[in-house]
Amino acid sequence: MFLFLATLAFGYDIYSTWSQHPDLIVCQDSGVNNKKVLDAIDYWSNRGYKVNDIIFKKNCEEEIIQGKIVIFKDYGRVKEKEYGRTHVVWKDGHMAHATVFISKDALDSLTVIKHEIGHAFGIKHTEDIHDIMYVKVSNN
Ligand SMILES: [Zn+2]
Repeated sequence: MFLFLATLAFGYDIYSTWSQHPDLIVCQDSGVNNKKVLDAIDYWSNRGYKVNDIIFKKNCEEEIIQGKIVIFKDYGRVKEKEYGRTHVVWKDGHMAHATVFISKDALDSLTVIKHEIGHAFGIKHTEDIHDIMYVKVSNN
């Protein structure tokens, strides 16, 4: 319910919401900047989108880990000219899992990491070009 209200308050369109705060698994073989991930989590937490546990996992073998947000290594999932890609699956009205891939050009980009984690919380793109969830973000 809280997530739903927060979504309305910040005016985002959503795919779905998590029924409870998901755990976040940060696969260390993804090469993502852990500090930037924590900063991105803070950013969303301040907007009502929270994770439960944050787990730094050395290697991740399976792409799909049910009920969690996973920052997985990008083995060609991110397309050319993209900085990131997030696969979300929802069923029965709630998010079932989300897998975030960050391209090698954006592993240190707070902007890109924030944007993709936004998708992992179920948030769609916005029309507002100044918003973090605009379809195009830079990797600065
Ligand atoms: Zn996007």
